[in-house]
Amino acid sequence: MPSITIEQLDTLITLQGIETGANTLKSKLQLKLDKGKGLEDELRELKENLSLGETELEEFRKQYRTLESDIADNQTIISKSQEKLRSVKTNKEYQSMLKEIDEMKDKGSKIEDEMLKLLDSIDEKEKAIAEIKAEYSQSKDDISNERAEIEKEAQVFRDELAEMTAEHKIIEGKIDPSIFRTFNLVKDKVHGAAAVPVVSGICKGCHMNIPTQLFNELMRRETIQMCPHCQRIIYCEPQKKSVEAD
Ligand SMILES: [Zn+2]
Repeated sequence: MPSITIEQLDTLITLQGIETGANTLKSKLQLKLDKGKGLEDELRELKENLSLGETELEEFRKQYRTLESDIADNQTIISKSQEKLRSVKTNKEYQSMLKEIDEMKDKGSKIEDEMLKLLDSIDEKEKAIAEIKAEYSQSKDDISNERAEIEKEAQVFRDELAEMTAEHKIIEGKIDPSIFRTFNLVKDKVHGAAAVPVVSGICKGCHMNIPTQLFNELMRRETIQMCPHCQRIIYCEPQKKSVEAD
């Protein structure tokens, strides 16, 4: 394993700290952006419902206009038949024409029933549309405010990230290129941190026990080592100086 100075080791730990911090920030930023997108989806769904409702309403009105014209036609036929009724010669013809008129009247009252039902549907649809419209307009304001708030928060994360990137660049310049290369190689292979501490003989990357001999070597902080289980770079935190008891 390559030897490392304590200074380089601390630089490596700082670099990892920046990367971990940056990753946490990126996740937080993504959460904010997802939340913003969720709100947009909500608004779009309302708009789609509104447009669907308006299409259905227009369809009902069209049907109603058709029925209006049907009933007018029917009325014309009835009037004409009643006119003819006066000039029929035979009783048989008279009866047959009466029957025909009754049937037309029957048809007319069925159309009227349908028209009443349609009027109810139109009424209901208009109410539903008014509700959606009110909800849409309220949501639009709420969402627009919330989006502005989210964007403000996201910008704070972006600014912090930019600061971290700048700091990362400075630290990168201080680290030994071969150690930086190893760090990046490990980073590509593992999930999460590439360099992790070993605490009480346990690797903080994979939570497995490190062999005693390896652990003793780490305690000297003179080399960088790989965890035999997860292949992360492992190190020991500097020992905290304990106050001597009397
Ligand atoms: Zn490990």
